[in-house]
Amino acid sequence: MHSQQVTAEPPSNDRAERDSTMGDVPGVRRSPASGADRAPFVFDVIIAGCGPTGAMLAAELRLHDVRVLVLEKETQPASFVRIVSLHIRSLELMAMRGLLDRLLQHGRQRPAGGFFAAIPKPAPKGLDSAYAYLLGIPQPVIERLLEERAIELGAQVRHGCAVAAFEQDGEGVTVELADGEQLRSRYLVGCDGARSTVRKLLGVGFPGEPSRTETLMGEMEVGVPQEEIAAKVSEIREPHQRFWLRPFGEGVYSVVVPAAGVSDRAEPPTLEDFKQQLRAIAGTDFGVHSPRWMSRFGDATRLAERYRVGRVLLAGDAAHIHPPIGGQGLNLGVQDAFNLGWKLAAQIRGWAPETLLDTYQAERHPVAEDVLDNTRAQMELLSPEPGPQAVRRLLTELMDVDEVNRLLIEKITATGIRYDFGAGPDLLGRRLRDIDVKQGHLYGLLHRGRGLLLDRTERLTVGGWSDRVDYLPDPTAALDVPCVLLRPDGHVAWIGDEQQDLDDHLSRWFGKPAG
Ligand SMILES: Cc1cc2nc3c(=O)[nH]c(=O)nc-3n(C[C@H](O)[C@H](O)[C@H](O)COP(=O)(O)OP(=O)(O)OC[C@H]3O[C@@H](n4cnc5c(N)ncnc54)[C@H](O)[C@@H]3O)c2cc1C
Repeated sequence: MHSQQVTAEPPSNDRAERDSTMGDVPGVRRSPASGADRAPFVFDVIIAGCGPTGAMLAAELRLHDVRVLVLEKETQPASFVRIVSLHIRSLELMAMRGLLDRLLQHGRQRPAGGFFAAIPKPAPKGLDSAYAYLLGIPQPVIERLLEERAIELGAQVRHGCAVAAFEQDGEGVTVELADGEQLRSRYLVGCDGARSTVRKLLGVGFPGEPSRTETLMGEMEVGVPQEEIAAKVSEIREPHQRFWLRPFGEGVYSVVVPAAGVSDRAEPPTLEDFKQQLRAIAGTDFGVHSPRWMSRFGDATRLAERYRVGRVLLAGDAAHIHPPIGGQGLNLGVQDAFNLGWKLAAQIRGWAPETLLDTYQAERHPVAEDVLDNTRAQMELLSPEPGPQAVRRLLTELMDVDEVNRLLIEKITATGIRYDFGAGPDLLGRRLRDIDVKQGHLYGLLHRGRGLLLDRTERLTVGGWSDRVDYLPDPTAALDVPCVLLRPDGHVAWIGDEQQDLDDHLSRWFGKPAG
């Protein structure tokens, strides 16, 4: 078990604590003890689960001096070293917080295309990002780097501590660990993965489809030359789309085969299971040996009905699950955390506008719905049946149309997201790409997780919001609008050139001005 002490913080100024209307929310029980009788708050937020989502959220909250405790049930990192894909939007988030260089040291850059249903089309030219590639990186490395970052920023992380129960009331949440220890915080966030205890205890529905198709995936060495594998794979890929052997360097291959016939779901798959499946499909097991890791996954697709009940929120796999096709789950979770972090911090620091915290669900639930849908579509396109195969051929042709290819890649990489901030120019609600500004590059100015006004007119001011929003005069001619207000997550919250209009939008996103 490792842990780190949090430094003493000034008391929080939580809006909900002042309003104290939370007992009327469904799923919220009032504790028998009154506020005066309960233990004092040592933490503002307890996060259940230190996977990528929980660790990212902890780091985001610490940027705003929120007192955070992360409880992780496992004592050790996962033994299997699954290489996952970080897509463009996640790379952008990492760049916005100064984390990308650390990740790049451990990952391998690959072209961004060829991801939708594994249709081998290159990405369209001129993708609108300074980070237009994919980073393949072992998931445990991402988890370690994000956890290290959260701890550096002052989060406390306790391993070997499983959240077993909780009860919320008007002022906070009492969290009970598996060993009976009780802890109290103002908010609890369930980042505890697909089988989320927090979601289940909360009674939030998780509708969707159960798993219908099972797949084996692993990384292992092969005993035959690369050319032989390449020839066999291209011969077989057409009818059996859930089959591939993809080189990862140093003789290691990523192997994917259908799990049909591998019966015992409770047991992890064995090398013999992989060999049998390979022989059934390819007539050879390619001499696979020395597995790095082996796993089995299904295509269950589910989405939590709500992301928030009172003082308890859900993020990452705890809120949504879908098949790994397209490599989107971790990206989606990290992006949930990025959306939630500054809003929850604002709530705790006491400057959040009334409805800010609820925009988390309003913005992220539809994004997850869209990801679930695109994975459903991709799974259909992997079916060997004649109908789906015909659709696949048609889509393969359609992807030669630049707009189609672009739309699909913007889905997978999450660069096409436009939150609904009301009527306005197309850029409103979208993320702004990293652009060169006179002061360096834009994302370099977002490391502290604050808002930012880019003002080409040099007439406007962030006035009483300067404790939450930075000001950048005359940023760059590359910006083709007079002024842009960015939220801490890099999404465009306002475009215009009038002070009163700006003030209205500063109030909308950043609450009342100081003083
Ligand atoms: C084969 C495969 C390949 C994949 N490839 C990709 C890819 O290329 N790209 C991509 O983006 N995604 C990919 N994914 C999905 C990705 O792995 C998940 O979406 C991601 O791990 C979700 O992160 P999370 O932090 O939300 O949840 P998790 O990673 O599940 O973390 C949850 C954490 O909570 C802890 N926990 C659970 N219960 C409790 C409790 N009661 N108390 C305290 N702690 C608890 C767990 O121990 C765990 O550490 C893949 C998935 C699979 C199966």
